[in-house]
Amino acid sequence: MTIQYCTNCVLPSCKPVTAKEGKKVTASATNTINFQDGVCEACRWNLIKENSIDWEARETELETLLNRYRSTDGSYDVIVPASGGKDSVYVSHILKHKYGMTPLTVTWAPSLWTEQGRRNQENLIKSGFDNILISPNGEIHRLLTKLAFTKLGHPFQPFIFGQRSVGPKMALKHNVGLVFYGENVAEYGNPLEENYNPQMDVNLFTTYNIRDPKTMLAGYTIEELEANFKIKQNDLNAYNPPNQSELTQGNIEVHYMSYYRKWVPQENYYYSVKNTFFEPAPTRSKGSYSRYSGLDDKMEWLHYHLMHIKFYCGRAMHDAAQEVRTKKIDREEGVALVNKYDAELPEEFIGDYLEYMDISENDFLAALDSFREPSKWSNIDGSWVKKYPLT
Ligand SMILES: [Zn+2]
Repeated sequence: MTIQYCTNCVLPSCKPVTAKEGKKVTASATNTINFQDGVCEACRWNLIKENSIDWEARETELETLLNRYRSTDGSYDVIVPASGGKDSVYVSHILKHKYGMTPLTVTWAPSLWTEQGRRNQENLIKSGFDNILISPNGEIHRLLTKLAFTKLGHPFQPFIFGQRSVGPKMALKHNVGLVFYGENVAEYGNPLEENYNPQMDVNLFTTYNIRDPKTMLAGYTIEELEANFKIKQNDLNAYNPPNQSELTQGNIEVHYMSYYRKWVPQENYYYSVKNTFFEPAPTRSKGSYSRYSGLDDKMEWLHYHLMHIKFYCGRAMHDAAQEVRTKKIDREEGVALVNKYDAELPEEFIGDYLEYMDISENDFLAALDSFREPSKWSNIDGSWVKKYPLT
């Protein structure tokens, strides 16, 4: 295996694409981003966004869709899963103020709130939105997070399971037919054609069922979770998504705003700062140089650090790739930023991780290193060095 980097942005060819059953969880994911003539799929999609999509026609499509759902009696007519981050507050705000909808925002609680995340969740409410906060059983969520960390190197997986299904689930509960998420994950390098679907692939949240003993969660089957870790099925209700037939019966549609309006994270940030109470972090995020994305959950820093270890795709890589692609910075600058920050451990949160997952520091550090594949990393005098450096 050799790893190449996109000659337009900085993404590595070992970046996995998002799989239907959830994010790819093994370091040797075979389903990785496509390159053509040295350029990654995310960059090719970005060119199409810039040059070939008729955004006015998309705007008309959006208005037609919203007209179908807009309530006339003041009741909620759209569910927006929202953490209070720049993207979800942008989506909530335009739906309410530009399109005259009545959103109900729902928040799937982070595993370990940052102070900034708590404040932005309050700022979301303060900005004019009703909100329901859903917090899964803390004892179970901690254990699942630990198992997903040690077994899969993916401590964020239990959060993602909940976050993906919370929209459709709350839509059913509140009898609202429409759910709006922000961007299609395909924006970041999945096969191009996936970007042409305005609706979320229902397989993203309906292919698992906690009533099925063979369903996998946190790297184990439900059966194993019960036998080995004493987790009962009824402890897992918060993670169970609606099934396909419930969604069909409820006429629930789950759409992406990125299909209808050109999705540029920095523009969402400017919009949110201008129009809502959203606040960026006071300082740059460890592992990157930015201070406006992924601020809510301390676990997100660990997630990105593991993405760096497994796929050379940490937080700085994520930020720089899209900023180079959208011409906010040039490639040379992006390369320097990734090389400077991507490997940085979120040291200030390690104490929180150890306590939350009930793990010793040695076990924690050993678990991190267990996901370094010899094909990607060399250990030189005690330091980890990429076998395929970014230049
Ligand atoms: Zn690229």
